[in-house]
Amino acid sequence: MPLYEYISVEPEEGCYRCSRGFELRRPVDREPLDKCPLCRKPVKKLISRGITTPKVSGPLSVSAAKSAGFTVMEKRDEGVYEKL
Ligand SMILES: [Zn+2]
Repeated sequence: MPLYEYISVEPEEGCYRCSRGFELRRPVDREPLDKCPLCRKPVKKLISRGITTPKVSGPLSVSAAKSAGFTVMEKRDEGVYEKL
């Protein structure tokens, strides 16, 4: 489940949670949160701070790299590019 970060649209009117921002895990198929669960004031989603980037502990898999838009090159055996 992705982790989203929200903050009050008007921090001076929000509660202690949304005025400083809070993190919430939500299923991808759920509607985006637009109200603070505590005070019901409007909140907005914060874009990035790197929190939605999956933590990678090892080399990226080929499919993960491709889906991220990278071109994946792999060295083949000698002679593949042999000119005739
Ligand atoms: Zn609030």
